Amino acid sequence: MATSKLEKKEQLYEGKAKVLFATNDPDYVIQYFKDDATAFNAEKKGTIENKGVVNNTISAVIFKYLEAEGVKTHFVEQLSERESLTRYLEIIPVEVIVRNITAGSISKRLGVEEGIVLKQPILEFCYKDDDLGDPFICESIIYAFDYATPEEMKHISETALKVNELLSKFFDERGITLVDYKLEFGRFKGEVLLADEITPDGCRLWEKGTNEKLDKDRFRRDLGNIEEAYEKVLNKVME
Ligand code: C5P
Repeated sequence: MATSKLEKKEQLYEGKAKVLFATNDPDYVIQYFKDDATAFNAEKKGTIENKGVVNNTISAVIFKYLEAEGVKTHFVEQLSERESLTRYLEIIPVEVIVRNITAGSISKRLGVEEGIVLKQPILEFCYKDDDLGDPFICESIIYAFDYATPEEMKHISETALKVNELLSKFFDERGITLVDYKLEFGRFKGEVLLADEITPDGCRLWEKGTNEKLDKDRFRRDLGNIEEAYEKVLNKVME
């Protein structure tokens, strides 16, 4: 079915930052970006004014860039201020975190300061389960519980590192350092595609020169000027 003929249907799922709607074609869904913000496994809740609009556009620009560079993703097109059309995937319950610089949980876990440039990127895996707080897992757990196959994980790891090279360059050219981020993947017609969103909600982004935080750490750590920081990322991403 031509995507121009798609109609929005019933709500399928409401997440912390997005709502998913069915369409009249089972292969496609509509992601609606909300202003809601959560942190620390939803213990802290709030709203960031206009976040849904800003994040929908940031994610659309980044997914289009990644697609143009050969990364296969769920993204089809941005439909409106808060909505994008994506392929309907079977989400793999493994969150992939890529780190270039120490910050957040790895600093706590290993007792190291934030801001250390790593000798090589770190790939971490977490089990996607809000009730459990997305616990840290390793590949043998992934295979033992059949969350994903070794072939899928090979593709996921290679793609996460390719995305790291592409995104680090993309942000660097726009005056931003990509510190770390989280990716999700899903299955669609026999392929594994990059899914979810890529926005300041799920990436740490530091302004080059000032090291000002332009991401959700402003919300997590009550640093203020959250809307301005997200807006700044949007403006730089649109450059
Ligand atoms: O908290 P932590 O340091 O492990 O987060 C690493 C990166 O992954 C951060 O950019 C954070 O925003 C992102 N992340 C996420 N969703 C999670 C866990 C981490 O977007 N459930």
